[in-house]
Amino acid sequence: MALLISGKTPCAVCGEVIHAQDEVVMFPPGLFDPRSGLHRFNDASAHHRCLAGVETGRQALQELEEFITDPVAYVRSRSER
Ligand SMILES: [Zn+2]
Repeated sequence: MALLISGKTPCAVCGEVIHAQDEVVMFPPGLFDPRSGLHRFNDASAHHRCLAGVETGRQALQELEEFITDPVAYVRSRSER
């Protein structure tokens, strides 16, 4: 899981430091294909509001949700591409 240090780790979307009171999303390493536009979210942390505000962020949130719900199905669906 991504490393998050409150007051130090920058948000992968806006680049601003994430604080303890922020609603934050952490992505595991290797979740997204290196060729995909979501690659930059691998092993990254971001404000939930920032992710929800951009198309790639919403896509990353959706994929993370799919991964959490059923990791095996998620990995299979990705490897078939
Ligand atoms: Zn942010």
